[in-house]
Parts: sequence; structure tokens; C-alpha cells
Amino acid sequence: MDAGFWPVEKCETQLVYNAANKAPEALTDTQSQRLIFAYKTAALLIVALTLPWSLYFIWIGQWPIAIANLILMALAGVSSLLIRSGRLNTALVVCELTLVIFTVLYTLMFDEPSEGAPRVTHLYLLVLAMLGYIGHLRRKSAFQLAVTAVSLVAFVALSCTTYAFPFAQPIPDDVRSIGIWANGILSTTMMCFGIYAIQREITRPKGMALELSSAVRKGEMELHFQPQIDLAGKVLGAEALLRWQHPKRGRIPPGDFIAVAEAAGLMPLLGGWVIQEACRTLALWGDDPVLRTLTLAVNVSADQFQVEDFESSVLEAIRVHGVDPARLKIELTESVIVHDLEPVIAKIENLRAAGIRFALDDFGTGYSSLSYLRQLPLDQLKIDRSFVRESLDTDRGTALARSIVQLGLDLGFVVLAEGIETPAQHAFLRDCGCHEFQGYLFGRPMPAGAFAEHVREATRTASQAAPALRLAVVDWPKQLRERGGTA
Ligand code: C2E
Ligand code: MG
Ligand code: MG
Repeated sequence: MDAGFWPVEKCETQLVYNAANKAPEALTDTQSQRLIFAYKTAALLIVALTLPWSLYFIWIGQWPIAIANLILMALAGVSSLLIRSGRLNTALVVCELTLVIFTVLYTLMFDEPSEGAPRVTHLYLLVLAMLGYIGHLRRKSAFQLAVTAVSLVAFVALSCTTYAFPFAQPIPDDVRSIGIWANGILSTTMMCFGIYAIQREITRPKGMALELSSAVRKGEMELHFQPQIDLAGKVLGAEALLRWQHPKRGRIPPGDFIAVAEAAGLMPLLGGWVIQEACRTLALWGDDPVLRTLTLAVNVSADQFQVEDFESSVLEAIRVHGVDPARLKIELTESVIVHDLEPVIAKIENLRAAGIRFALDDFGTGYSSLSYLRQLPLDQLKIDRSFVRESLDTDRGTALARSIVQLGLDLGFVVLAEGIETPAQHAFLRDCGCHEFQGYLFGRPMPAGAFAEHVREATRTASQAAPALRLAVVDWPKQLRERGGTA
């Protein structure tokens, strides 16, 4: 699927996080390759830094230190081979364990502090402590926590004492005076990278959010379309509803993943794809004489709406796909109003000026003050299906549904009742004055092909019953003018 200008790079950004949370032994995608690349580079760096020192120590005849450096190089080489074979977890265990032991032994053997040159090798224990903690964040692990704890204890012990092995062979002070600065700078730089990695790890989406972050790129998202009909029963358009075709769990409804996506900050990514796909669909409908007059409503979550470039991205999608903006309807919920109302109004007005229509979804279920209704430049109110469901159950349910519809009518909005399942509910809400309807009674959400077929069938039936009938063309400004509304 064409993910367009918005989702692709955002998908990629999200996917940078992707590698670390999967079982590393099973890592396959590009980002996992990046992680493997980072570890391989680190191993090569150790070899590159250690080799000149080994040669130098051999040259000045300091064989024990030279051998210690060669052992470090060998460790880096073994880890690199393990990583190359895809066994990242095993490589980490080998690497961390041996590096902690190696650093402690090396410090006690060769890095004995003197008056002119303090110890520095033990600074790498802080880096190893961080590495252990990052590993634990990636995948909960007692081993990684133990690495962190042991490294910190060893660091404190080596910082607070001058202890060295009785048989220590300290590196000469003139060599160490160079090493102090080199190791000090290198270990501090590594700690900075460690802090960055921890921060990335903490903000990285996990579990279902992690899968969601790559779902768009993998083409697992799909739009289904539910018909919206007018008083005469004609299809005016559809609401686009997101579906996630999970490779293992099958089709997952939005109720099961929208909240996760919102919490993980993924709605701008998913919603951006929805807008692109909706515009692409409208463009396809535009080429079809039966479908060309239909509108398409998309749900936009509060955090997607608040993204700075929301307006420009919607307008760009419309432009790229050559769509009539009046065919696109944006459904917002009251959650967009919990923030400052002014910028929300400004955004809606800008997009309405371009021709896009706005509906307030799930009306009646929010908790904000009704006074916002006076100020929000909306076109349509969608009466939540909970009111429709209870409208015929009790006297109070009936009164409430009637009052909510009346409120919308009095304010001059086009009122749509959603969740209509029975002819009795339909008749009642029509009598209340609703203009449009949506619900299983008229069609469930369905894939694009089935929806197009549904509309064709409805058109055929209508033209057989009354040849003069045509698909309704939505002219909301006209409807509102006739009702004395604001548009
Ligand atoms: P919504 O926007 O209020 O959409 C209507 C929901 O009611 C849909 O559920 C639809 O399948 C369901 N529905 C329609 N008619 C009937 C009916 O007669 N009876 C019953 N029981 N249900 C009916 P769905 O598709 O599961 O979507 C649930 C919610 O997920 C949507 O509520 C919307 O808030 C959210 N959602 C769906 N797609 C998107 C999306 O692309 N972006 C965002 N931000 N939210 C979305
Ligand atoms: Mg909706
Ligand atoms: Mg709704």
C-alpha cells in the first residue's frame, strides 16, 4: 500500500526502536540489523583501540599487559562472531560477564594508582553497569541486573581504595599519564551514549505498541467502510473504520488497539495513514459514476489533531490525490476540547475554509461543558450509539435520546444517529428529527470492494423502485441554510 508522504518516514522513526524488544535471537528486520551493526562496530572499535597498545607493550617488552590486551581483543572477536551468527543474547552475556571480570583484573594487575597518575580503567565499570541496565530494560533479566550491581560495587571499591594484587605489574607512569586522558575521555563518551540509549529504551513502545509501530509499514492496516444513509434511505457516504490484520491474531478491532496506540503516541502515525488511505479511496470513487458523490468520514484522535502539521498534512493528502475536499469529513470527539479551545477552533476553521466538513463523534458521552458547542465550528453531531440503544428501553432513555437530538437540531447541526440496529430505533430517531443514520441495520463496516458492491446494489434497487431516484448529493451548506444553521 502507498503510505504516502506522512507515514513512511514516521514509520521508519518508530522502527528505530523496533529491534530491541524482540527476542534478539529472532531479529530479522532492518532495525534489528542496525542493532547488530552497532554491537559489531563496538567490538571492532575495541579491537582497533587495543591493537596499537598491544603492539606498543610488546615493543617496550611489557608482555603481561600486551597479553591482557590481546585477550581483550580475542573476547571482542568471539563476541563479534556470535553476533554475526545472529546470537545476540549469547554474545551479550559472554561480552558483559567477561568484560566485568577482565576490567577488575586488569585494574588490580596493571592500573595501580600512584601519586602522579590516578586509576582510570575502573571507569569502564560504570559503562558496563549501564550496559547491564540497558539489557535489563530490553528484556527483564536477573543476569543483567547482577552485571549492573557487580559493576557498581566493583567501581566503588576500586575508586575508594588503592588496592592492587601483591604481584601487580603496574604500567609505567609515563605511559599511564597518556592513558589517563584517553581512557577518561573514552569512558565518559561511552557513558553519554549509554544515557542516550537508556532514554531511547525507556520511551520505546513495547508489546502491542511495538507491533503497531510497524503494522503500517508491513501493510497490516486496512480501512473498512460503513454506510451512512439519509432520510430516504440513500447512501450518502461512509465512515472509514480502521482494522488491523495481525499476522498471528487475525483481525483486531480498533477498540483493542486504538487506546494502546494513543498511549504510545502512535496515533499521528496511524491516523496519518488513515487520511492518506481515505483520500486515495475518495480519488478511486471519483472515477466511478456510482460512487463519485459519496462522502468519507475519518476518525481523528485528539493527539493526531494536535500535531502541528495536521492541517498541512491533510491538505497535502487532498492535493496529492486530487480529491474534492467537500467529500472528506473529519470526526472529532470531545477529547480534543479538553485542551485550549482557541487553537482547536482555529484549526477547524482553516480546514473548513478549504471545504472539509467536521462532525462531533459520540456526542453525549463526553464530560466537557456543553458551552463548547456554541463555539466549535462544526457541521454535524453524531448521536452516540449508547443513546440509540437505550432509546426504546425506558422512558428516561427515550426522553434523553429525544432531548439530545433536539439539542443538535436547535443548534443548527446536521444530526446523525449511529448504532441503529432495528427498524424501531430507526423510526423513533427519524421521528425525533435526525437527518442521517448509520448502523448495522443499513450495513456493517465492510472492505472497500464489498462497500462499492453494497452501494451499487442499493442504487440498482432504488432505481428499479423509482427510476427518478439518484444517489443523494450531500449539500450540507444548503441543508443548514434551509434549517437556519450557521454554515
Ligand atoms: P466510532 O467512530 O464511534 O465508530 C463507530 C463504531 O460503532 C464502529 O466500531 C462501528 O463498527 C460500530 N457500529 C456501527 N454501527 C453499529 C451498530 O449498529 N451496532 C453496534 N453494536 N456497533 C455499531 P469500530 O469499528 O469497532 O470502531 C470503534 C471506535 O474505534 C470508533 O468509534 C472510533 O472511535 C475508533 N476508530 C476506528 N477507526 C479509527 C481511526 O481510523 N482513527 C481513530 N482515531 N479512531 C478510530
Ligand atoms: Mg466515528
Ligand atoms: Mg461514534
